[in-house]
Amino acid sequence: MKKSKVLLLYTGGTIGMIENPLELSLKPFDFDQITSEVPELNKLNCLIETISFENPLDSSNMSFETWIQIGDKIFKNYDYFDGFVVLHGTDTMSYTASALSLMFQNLTKPIILTGSQLPLGQVRTDGKENLITAIEIASMKQNNFSVVKEVAIYFENQLFRGNRTTKVSSDHFDAFKSFNYPSLADVGVEINFNLNYLLKKREKKLNYEKGFDPSINIVFFYPGILINNVIKLISSNSSKVVVLMSYGSGNLPLENELVEFLNSSEKIFLNVSQCKAGNVEQEKYETGMQLKKAGVIGVKDMTLETVIVKSMLLIKKYPSDKDKFEEFLLSDIAGEITE
Ligand code: ASP
Repeated sequence: MKKSKVLLLYTGGTIGMIENPLELSLKPFDFDQITSEVPELNKLNCLIETISFENPLDSSNMSFETWIQIGDKIFKNYDYFDGFVVLHGTDTMSYTASALSLMFQNLTKPIILTGSQLPLGQVRTDGKENLITAIEIASMKQNNFSVVKEVAIYFENQLFRGNRTTKVSSDHFDAFKSFNYPSLADVGVEINFNLNYLLKKREKKLNYEKGFDPSINIVFFYPGILINNVIKLISSNSSKVVVLMSYGSGNLPLENELVEFLNSSEKIFLNVSQCKAGNVEQEKYETGMQLKKAGVIGVKDMTLETVIVKSMLLIKKYPSDKDKFEEFLLSDIAGEITE
């Protein structure tokens, strides 16, 4: 059988660093030399080609322009490879994974993001296993079709749907969790796919979209917050979408000024819970119901990362059509929401 071809794209982050022995600081290594750092790659049953960002980025320095840069590289090579592995810093990996999942609609090939907590050049690195298994998963086929046909994050023995993930730890090796969707694969001696949870093959043609408008504001509520200040803050800037970080199933203090302001403002308000797991159900309590009546959109079980990225995409696409924005925000594009 023909060997799968995997494109490995290095964008930056801890994984691609080695220790400078004199200064003991971390610096990116020449990624063309990846097989001398990880000779095990030569033993994998697939062909690997690597490309690297000219200036590797700490993922905290990335913006939507970087998502487009990554997307363009994959799109240009889409027909020539069977799978793609993106090496990425962990800090904003969930945002990039969400973005790629919405940019590449109807994927038939895997795009797997991974990274590490310790650099490849360090003895106890988690990067080697993450890298090797991510490539293996990206190359896997069944009946000539890729097993994974979506954007996923592989990290510390688990494969997750990328747009369902959140970074939860800055020091544990299992840095990512997917609170509202089961893992797509669990890796031990074998790679065990949870086939029922993987996205199914799409009949439609690949659609690549890459417009983003970052005019978004977030307000994190806490008991005792001064509502007047919140209103001033929101009114004084040009954001088009405002994310209200609510409590529990989508509740906020029932203050008249807030409700009146929400009713009268032209902006789009989204209700995202501070709880990482569970659903936003504004109808459940009076404190949420008021928001629903004022036109605030509850985002169901989407992650904050996905809500932000999806909103950036949708306000660019439908700048003055609130109904379309809401319709698509609450529709399932890449398995990011349970409808
Ligand atoms: N600051 C780094 C980044 O996200 C951390 C990491 O790679 O894990 O790029």
